[in-house]
Amino acid sequence: MRAIRLGLVGLGKIARDQHLPAITATNGIDLVAVASRNATAQSVNNYPDLTAMLAGEPDLDAIVLCQPPQARYAAALIALAAGKHVFLEKPPGATVSEAQALGALAAEQGVTLFASWHSRYAAAVSTAKGWVAANAPRRVRIDWKEDVRHWHPGQQWIWEPGGFGVFDPGINALSILTEVIGVPVRLVDADLDKPANRQTPIAARLMLETANGVPIHAEFDWRQTGPQTWDIMVETGGKTLILSDGGNRLTIEGIPQSIEHEAEYPGLYRRFVDLVRARQSDIDLAPLQIVADAFLRGRWHSTEAFVD
Ligand code: NAP
Repeated sequence: MRAIRLGLVGLGKIARDQHLPAITATNGIDLVAVASRNATAQSVNNYPDLTAMLAGEPDLDAIVLCQPPQARYAAALIALAAGKHVFLEKPPGATVSEAQALGALAAEQGVTLFASWHSRYAAAVSTAKGWVAANAPRRVRIDWKEDVRHWHPGQQWIWEPGGFGVFDPGINALSILTEVIGVPVRLVDADLDKPANRQTPIAARLMLETANGVPIHAEFDWRQTGPQTWDIMVETGGKTLILSDGGNRLTIEGIPQSIEHEAEYPGLYRRFVDLVRARQSDIDLAPLQIVADAFLRGRWHSTEAFVD
């Protein structure tokens, strides 16, 4: 079977750190071209933007979009309209309605749209999902606390409308939660802390609830220095599961579980290849909807100005 001929747009941090090595490691997909306003990649054809790449590479089958969310809709529209399969970095859009519109266009065009959630491919997530399915949860707590200066140096888009602020990492926790919990989750209440000089929150506290009434408390904070925290704790009647390190480590009833380490992005690319071959899409907007609901329903608190 011919390999999928892929073009990548947005040669920034996630493209270099994760996408390029994962594409190289995946059978059935070849990186043919890159579109970047500022950079070039080796051993592929380089173009200044997506339109030039599509014109220069009519044989491309698929496009992966690695820009910030604010730039992704316009590019996805161009790629889908050209009949290409599309792999979206997370989050799948700057708004829920634009992500829905892309899903409808992909269906109309008969091509694959993969709204990826990389954290769902962290090593311990599928084991945790199996345990939660067998042990009815009574209470869930999420702590996702990291140092924005370390992880997002100089990235201004995270502070602009559509950049999500602390929900840029927080949505990763919500993507794991909605995968593992197995039933719909609704937002009950939210408190959002926004630096006086910024457009997006630096911290947030959410109250959520599953469809069967299980309470979920989530705390996201971008001001944590020292050890970083990416933990989800699920309590059942007397037993506790802790999914830590962003879904990569698992402790059940105090016993660390032996989990084979596997990087997230090779799993994402295997999934994309399977979706394209099956002419299917994978678009789960539940994590994005929760963030949108927090912005709709939350109480806003002004906090100290943030200076990079
Ligand atoms: P980034 O390095 O700041 O930006 C990625 C690239 O997108 C830039 O290098 C630029 O590429 C292009 N770009 C930036 N601003 C743009 C704009 N306004 N219009 C058009 N293109 C623009 O960001 P990133 O950290 O890679 O994050 C990109 C996406 O990946 C985000 O949605 C993020 O949530 C997700 N993600 C990031 C990480 C991480 O660790 N950083 C992890 C997982 C997922 P060119 O110069 O090539 O045009």
